[in-house]
Amino acid sequence: MLGRNVIKMIKGKGVSAGIGFGNIVILKNEVRKIEKNIIEDSEKELEKLHKALQEVIDETNQIVEKATGTEKEIMTAYLMIMQDPSLISETENQIKNSKINAEYATETGFNSVIQIFENMDDEYMAGRARDIADIKDRIIAKLYNEEKIDLSKLKPNTIIVAKELTTSDTAKLDFKNISGIITEVGGENSHTSIMARTHLLPAVTKVENATTILKNGEYVAINGGSGEIFENPTEEQQQNLIKIQKDFIESKVELEKYKNLESKTKDGFKVELVSNIGTPADVELVLKNTAEGIGLLRSEFLYMDSEEMPTEEEQFNSYKEVAEKMQGKQVIIRTLDVGGDKEIKYLKMEKEANPFLGYRAIRLCLDNSQIFKPQIRALLRASAYGNIAIMFPMISSIEELRRAKAVVEECKKEFDNEGKEYKKDIKIGIMVEIPSVAIIAEEIAKECDFFSIGTNDLIQYTVAVERGNEKISNLYSKYHPAVIRLIKSSIDGAHKAGIFCGMCGEAASDELLIPLLIGLGLDEFSMNPNKILNSRKIVNDLDKKECEKLAEEILKLGTTSEVEEKLKEFNKKVV
Ligand code: PEP
Ligand code: MG
Repeated sequence: MLGRNVIKMIKGKGVSAGIGFGNIVILKNEVRKIEKNIIEDSEKELEKLHKALQEVIDETNQIVEKATGTEKEIMTAYLMIMQDPSLISETENQIKNSKINAEYATETGFNSVIQIFENMDDEYMAGRARDIADIKDRIIAKLYNEEKIDLSKLKPNTIIVAKELTTSDTAKLDFKNISGIITEVGGENSHTSIMARTHLLPAVTKVENATTILKNGEYVAINGGSGEIFENPTEEQQQNLIKIQKDFIESKVELEKYKNLESKTKDGFKVELVSNIGTPADVELVLKNTAEGIGLLRSEFLYMDSEEMPTEEEQFNSYKEVAEKMQGKQVIIRTLDVGGDKEIKYLKMEKEANPFLGYRAIRLCLDNSQIFKPQIRALLRASAYGNIAIMFPMISSIEELRRAKAVVEECKKEFDNEGKEYKKDIKIGIMVEIPSVAIIAEEIAKECDFFSIGTNDLIQYTVAVERGNEKISNLYSKYHPAVIRLIKSSIDGAHKAGIFCGMCGEAASDELLIPLLIGLGLDEFSMNPNKILNSRKIVNDLDKKECEKLAEEILKLGTTSEVEEKLKEFNKKVV
């Protein structure tokens, strides 16, 4: 018979290498259905409501006591909302007069207050609706005796288990206390997997029924390379895993000698190895790995990390911090790329049948100057403090690029009138992630300063395979000949117009692809900071002429498997 202490090994897909040991915390993110019931004893129900509210107030008080600065101010204001008797008066009425259970009365009573706030003209007051919704969720969780897990405050050595982690959940995670992530769904190129790799956090996905098989508090070991999860691992298993971890660390130490070296091939072709980051805190990793700049700052993480739209001032401070820390090295900041798998609650985006083909990124920004302009203004202001370049995501045509550039021009004029400083010749580039743009690369390149190929999206739009859809993930390949030809078209188009072409999709650090990309003439490779040293080692071992020959041969091939085979053959010979 299987008891709980029997050792079991569960297998999923490893998406971020490394070994982690720790205790499970299961995140249930399905929406709870709140039942409506008629109660007899309204006094008892009111007592339940007041007790739940008091517990939430007590917890918040503890946070206020420990907080300092802006956090203290925010939490004090939040506490005042909770202590205002009018907050729960509608809920109390429903319990007293209509004899409705406390859970349902809280849901509907609070929703009417939330609506009043949402309809207020004052932006600050309208923003408080989110605080009230949060208080409502916390009270309801108490009434159901559930503990709402605060993702930003976890116990040391926590292994997070969830059906799926949203990108905004991942953005809130308390990384220093997490030893691993296990999810039931999610692909190698999902933003959660990308973030896990940035933080060197072991992660395993595609673990069927993980949230029911694994139990809260259970001790497990996870191998983010092989995708194995060991429940209650034996001493021997733990020792094996520690050995794997030791080798993993040693291979990282071995790469240390590539720190601060130039990124150039044996025959002297120099490329830029730069990094992808999400927040100013990631700059530490960029510097540690001696990347030559930042090729992609995904600015949406600043928006996802916050409960409401970050102001121009807040954005300016973040961009300035990154620019200053990078000390004159190029920092390419991408304007808001929301939509697809990146949801921001307070933007209240409508549900669409095909979000990846929908109203997202630059499309949404161009229609909403109250979102777009503060970001452009913040970027221009920060450009006075370092080498910032602006990049637009999801550009599909020259018309769109012109509209986006017109907004930058409008902000520059405002600054000229206001006498504000900014980098007059700030570079403006685009992500090449929609096939239409790769095809008209030569024409569109004449109107911008650089390209960065976003293979994560370019692949999905070329082969019509959603990047996170596991059922068809076998069709999503960076080695597809059509993807390779679009990359070539983008690089050639950029070079004909005299601009540089980079790549910031995950393919830029793929060991097999790097020689081909060098052969095609890619100028800049932007990647997870932890991949810089390994990529520099590969580049230093290559010969540009041999890579060009490889590219010539690859461009004649018609199938994905032939391309992959040829790349593997080259890799065995050279690297
Ligand atoms: C890409 O699409 O390749 C890219 C880098 O952008 P993101 O992964 O944020 O969509
Ligand atoms: Mg993209």
